[in-house]
Amino acid sequence: MVDKIDPKQPPLMDTICAIATPAGKGGIGIVKISGLNALSLCRSVFYKKVRALPGQDVGKAVADTTFEFRPRHMYHGYIRESATGQVVDEVLCVYMSSPHSYTGDDVVEIHSHSGPAVLETILHMVLQRGGRCAEPGEFTQRAFLNGRIDLTQAEGVIDLINAESTSAMKIAAKKVSGELRRHIQRIRARVLDLITLIEAGIDFPDEVGPSLGIDQKFAEIMREVLPKIERLIRHHDQGRVFREGFRLAIVGRPNVGKSSLLNRLLGHDRAIVTDIPGTTRDLIHETVSINGASIVLTDTAGIQATDNPIEKIGIEKTKSQIAACDLILFVVDARDGIGADQIGWFEPADRKKLMIVANKIDLKDNFCEYHPPERLVDLPLVCISAKTAFGVESLWDAIKNFIFRDCEVTLADTIVPNFRQKLALQNALTDLARACHAFRENIPLEMIAIDLQGCLDALGSILGINVREDVLDCIFKEFCIGK
Ligand code: GDP
Repeated sequence: MVDKIDPKQPPLMDTICAIATPAGKGGIGIVKISGLNALSLCRSVFYKKVRALPGQDVGKAVADTTFEFRPRHMYHGYIRESATGQVVDEVLCVYMSSPHSYTGDDVVEIHSHSGPAVLETILHMVLQRGGRCAEPGEFTQRAFLNGRIDLTQAEGVIDLINAESTSAMKIAAKKVSGELRRHIQRIRARVLDLITLIEAGIDFPDEVGPSLGIDQKFAEIMREVLPKIERLIRHHDQGRVFREGFRLAIVGRPNVGKSSLLNRLLGHDRAIVTDIPGTTRDLIHETVSINGASIVLTDTAGIQATDNPIEKIGIEKTKSQIAACDLILFVVDARDGIGADQIGWFEPADRKKLMIVANKIDLKDNFCEYHPPERLVDLPLVCISAKTAFGVESLWDAIKNFIFRDCEVTLADTIVPNFRQKLALQNALTDLARACHAFRENIPLEMIAIDLQGCLDALGSILGINVREDVLDCIFKEFCIGK
């Protein structure tokens, strides 16, 4: 079990290093070193630039290794092989002294030019002099172990790095700044208050009840704390569309107008439209942003009986999309009915994500009328013409309504827990609700205290208190090397 280490404790002993910038060529690349020997390792490869005297060779004038390396100051100099004097690169170096650094250890960053050979040579030199290659996420893990950040902030850093939309970035940034931590700490404090009272009640049984204020505390917990936890759990589910995006699949028979619809929804020609059935063989993905959420639209191969092996593969992919997506636009030709075979494409579980789109309504005599079979009458239905754009606005409205109905999440002020945090919140909620129920039922306080302790532990695990080492390893393994 790992608890947070007291920030006053000495830093971890070995010194880790890694290339902190992405692989490839670029203006600047960074080698990061963290640990007790960070500064001495840096000094062993870095030579501060000194002004060449008139007539002096610049190479000979780069030998100041004795200067005072002041924290948070940038120094201009060279990375040089001490044995050969060979200059590897001209760099900037910055030192952040413990505990005022990202990890809480001494940290040095060497900012060199970014090319694989340069960065790997510098890293190799540092490793040769006693550094150890950092594991993925190890810098952030140290920040956590040194008490610089809690686990919600560390997980926020992963989310921030992985964020592919500005909405995902905003959600992650809130966690990095400690908003979820503060929320959880406030809830924990309320539960802790109650536990203190319960323990007093156990020690002084004659005082139980109104004189200790336990009744009132339980009433407050039920009125204020339980709904707060429930809200956070809901925000996990609702926030998924902002964190991970929303997947919409356009599915139907060949030639019903799926590709035409994709192009209409995008507002430009992306997919090939022909009247030759089976034109779209592979999945076509395009992303649009709505209200800050990324919506991935996927055009799929039309489903029909076929002996063509290529078309068969396309149809299999369509079926996997049906299973994986959040909303299925089930496109039909408004002049045709929907056969039982088509209904068979969808599992009963898919029903709540099905929307019927009756296309080619322009070709129909009784314009705008489409009657799905009895079994499907309760599904949302929009009549459109992908050719004339009739009904496409209404379709967008229906899609937006589907995505954002009942959504309380606004990016400005909502904290969105991740899956691990949601599970812990659910455990906390179960224990707390059980404790409230037990109190109403006059169950002995000793039993109630066990549930409240369970709630406290679950909340603590969100912050990283008493989290098993293997769980921590799993979390930090999600990082890239160098963070
Ligand atoms: P997909 O195979 O389902 O992707 O269908 P396409 O988008 O390739 O369209 C098949 C044919 O139907 C093409 O000739 C389109 O121009 C035509 N089409 C698509 N949508 C409409 C529509 O709303 N009205 C009319 N009249 N033709 C359409």
